[in-house]
Amino acid sequence: MDLRLLDILVCPLCKGPLVYEKAAQELVCKADKLAYPIRDGIPIMWADQARDLTLAENDTKDTFNQTEEK
Ligand SMILES: [Zn+2]
Repeated sequence: MDLRLLDILVCPLCKGPLVYEKAAQELVCKADKLAYPIRDGIPIMWADQARDLTLAENDTKDTFNQTEEK
């Protein structure tokens, strides 16, 4: 996949940034815990095609912690 696409692709649900998971060939939205498939190098940006991340998968990825504990 052309990584430059990542600059313009956002999650169709929350308009947030996506993380390219090269091994899985998926684009992951951490906010929604969804993984959008990449087929033949083309990201499939439809929520009904996306896969729910498991809790374990979500834990192992870097998370954007938007709540600051201070
Ligand atoms: Zn999202």
